[in-house]
Amino acid sequence: MKYLVLLLVIVVVLWLVRSRPRAVRPDRAPASEGSAPQAMIECVHCGVHLPRAEAVAGLQGLYCSDAHRLAHGDSR
Ligand SMILES: [Zn+2]
Repeated sequence: MKYLVLLLVIVVVLWLVRSRPRAVRPDRAPASEGSAPQAMIECVHCGVHLPRAEAVAGLQGLYCSDAHRLAHGDSR
């Protein structure tokens, strides 16, 4: 009977050690997918860096805003 309890304790400990890494993985996977790298560009007029999706395109380059595109003398 003593050995049965000891065996049960060993099985429980092994089960806990094996289940730990599995519990960590689901937390990391969505974080790495959610923080996908965005392409950054530099405003031709003021030099500020911003995501490519938020940039305003002109003939001479990309700008942080429409006001800077006009201030730089660029017309589409
Ligand atoms: Zn700018």
